[in-house]
Amino acid sequence: MGLEHRLGRMVKPADGCSLLRSSASDPFLKGCVLMKIHEYQAKELLKAAGVAVPAGEVANKPEEAAEAFDRLKTPLVVVKAQVHAGGRGKGIAVGPDDDHAAAYDIACGRKQRPEGVAKGVQLVKTKEETRKAAASLLGKKLITYQTGPQGQTISKVLVTVGHEIARELYLGMAVDRALHCPVVMASTEGGVEIEKVAHESPEKIERVPIDVGLGLLEFQGRKLSHALGLKGDTAKKGEKLFKGFVRLFLEKDASLAEINPLIVTGAGDVLALDCKLNFDDNALFRHPDVAILLDAAEEDPAELRAARSGLSYVSLDGNIACLVNGAGLAMSTMDLIKYHGGEPANFLDVGGGASKEQVLEGFRILLSSPNVKAVLVNIFGGIMQCDIIAAALLVAYDEIDFRVPLVVRLEGTNVEAGMKLLKDSGRKIITATGLTDAAQQVVAAAKGQE
Ligand code: ADP
Ligand code: MG
Repeated sequence: MGLEHRLGRMVKPADGCSLLRSSASDPFLKGCVLMKIHEYQAKELLKAAGVAVPAGEVANKPEEAAEAFDRLKTPLVVVKAQVHAGGRGKGIAVGPDDDHAAAYDIACGRKQRPEGVAKGVQLVKTKEETRKAAASLLGKKLITYQTGPQGQTISKVLVTVGHEIARELYLGMAVDRALHCPVVMASTEGGVEIEKVAHESPEKIERVPIDVGLGLLEFQGRKLSHALGLKGDTAKKGEKLFKGFVRLFLEKDASLAEINPLIVTGAGDVLALDCKLNFDDNALFRHPDVAILLDAAEEDPAELRAARSGLSYVSLDGNIACLVNGAGLAMSTMDLIKYHGGEPANFLDVGGGASKEQVLEGFRILLSSPNVKAVLVNIFGGIMQCDIIAAALLVAYDEIDFRVPLVVRLEGTNVEAGMKLLKDSGRKIITATGLTDAAQQVVAAAKGQE
């Protein structure tokens, strides 16, 4: 994955990672985007791994949802918005004319929820109610505490059997970087934000480290059952579910898996009512069945475009675009920009090299964001020589309409020749003599554009 920033996002239990478009004609992406999938897709994978999930069907239209109600033959149905974000139960579906900021405050619990606003998860009892619930979601944006005020478009709903819940539990699995292995996490505090539990009462989360070669061992399964208070037949059902869950995580190279809530029904069955799965994009090449699950509509278009060219790109909120080679350099470049009073708009990591094509596509992607007021190129020429990078920058500069100031800082092999090329080029390129100088110049240039 390579980017510390992404890693930071990945390890957060309620967030995740992504790749390929669902069209079979689309080539594999060469770079990285956070690989997340929808709940309905995660549940199909869980089911195939032997984890019990409620029966359900995906619907794209209210009428399809209503037909699914008939087929499910159950008195209680749940209609669930399918977006790559959690907190849907407390989320709000809004139309284009609704107040997004107010909806976000409600979704975050800062404002009281008025009567009648559509939640992202709705319990219904009739065919007509199912149709109405689907119509209140499809085509709208769902705003949850995780989406931000802009929300995410709902293009699918999951119509699923509603179960009577005796207990709501939490089951998760992530890679523990300190222990160097995946860890299963289980808690009796299900259905709520696990981040809160981890923060306020970490002792309520049982952690079981997993040997990747052995999977979940019998005694570990029993330990989890015990921690969750499962007994008798329910414990046996739970242990079967834990085994399947761990096997799925390991077999598919997942980076994060969460079942929240994992429920115990009145009849003592154990079921995964919700599921979130993220995958390690470095291993995605060996899981075409997972890669195909990417929903491009859920992704940042610039991040997807960068990934197709083997570039790593991250959108941020400021106005200074950064083109760098290497994740560490990206971090320090952004730190310095902030230190000198600026805000990064995005950063693009061209990796170890910086070919003409990559620089060209990199600039196009960076400049596609309307917020960008200045661009900083900060490249260390190690194996790659600075004069070759400078030549590539000049070609790219000529091919692209540079609507904002460009500041370049090069360091490394043949740096003098590279800087001379840029200075003598006659182009409006601002050359910087060090990182501090580069950051100060680009912050000033961006301010000058406002
Ligand atoms: P999110 O985590 O995005 O809010 P969930 O799928 O966890 O979405 O749903 C929120 C809540 O809705 C759950 O905690 C549970 O109480 C209820 N719920 C979800 N699915 C079902 C279901 N199939 N049967 C009964 N209740 C459900
Ligand atoms: Mg949930």
